[in-house]
Amino acid sequence: MTEQLRSLSQSSLQDYNDCPRRFELRYIQHLAYPAVESEPALENEKHQQEGEYFHRLVQQHLIGIPAEQVGKLAKTDNLQRWWENYVNAKDLSGFKNLTGLHAEVTLSAPLGKFRLVAKYDLIAIGENKATIYDWKTYRKRPKNEWLHIRWQTRVYRALLVQAGAHLNGAKPFTPEQIEMVYWFADFPTEPAHFPYKADQYKRDWDALTTLAEEITSASHFPKTDDVSKCSYCPYRSYCDRGIRAGDAADAELETAAEELFDINFEQIGEIAF
Ligand code: SF4
Repeated sequence: MTEQLRSLSQSSLQDYNDCPRRFELRYIQHLAYPAVESEPALENEKHQQEGEYFHRLVQQHLIGIPAEQVGKLAKTDNLQRWWENYVNAKDLSGFKNLTGLHAEVTLSAPLGKFRLVAKYDLIAIGENKATIYDWKTYRKRPKNEWLHIRWQTRVYRALLVQAGAHLNGAKPFTPEQIEMVYWFADFPTEPAHFPYKADQYKRDWDALTTLAEEITSASHFPKTDDVSKCSYCPYRSYCDRGIRAGDAADAELETAAEELFDINFEQIGEIAF
């Protein structure tokens, strides 16, 4: 059933974790979203677009365009506020002085019969250290406990160990050299920091390997028993799990999906396989 599936990402793994049926519909059957993911739909869509645009603004700044020039492109209230917060953030002053900045970089490594792929907002290389930054435009600041167990936190750090040697003079980073930071554009003084250790890396990579094997041999993708996951799910109508969409602020935490189809495999820095 998974013969056509070549890649796994933090989003697809999170979907598999939350509901195998959602994983099947989204990544194997490639079904278009039949239901509104959250309410109010238009406002949520605008917020998502602004979030994507904010990522582009930061990227422009990181490749060397002066902040004043980039700031002129922040034309909505949300974008202006997020940009001001970014420019003034003391917690981000560390990386702004570094030279080894890799914005919007994609890494990949073999994982069973798949490639594990992740697109990073920023990997900042300092002396003996690599910090992964991820920009979030959430309306709510999620708890660190929730972030800690998300597949994004686990995949991004593990994959940098596995496939980041070319960013470190051909020497793989050790887990202890890696930290992940979520920076929240609406909560600029409350970033979440997740350092890494060798035992965590082993646990993560073992879990990823097991999950990839499970997905490879799966013949059935059951619906989740946790019906609360369905409130924000765009496939509610396929599953008979309600018509009304959930609240947008909760939905953006639960259903963030990146489109792997956008990734250009020619540009992926990866270890050979
Ligand atoms: S509606 Fe519920 S059961 Fe159906 S795919 Fe979504 S999360 Fe899974």
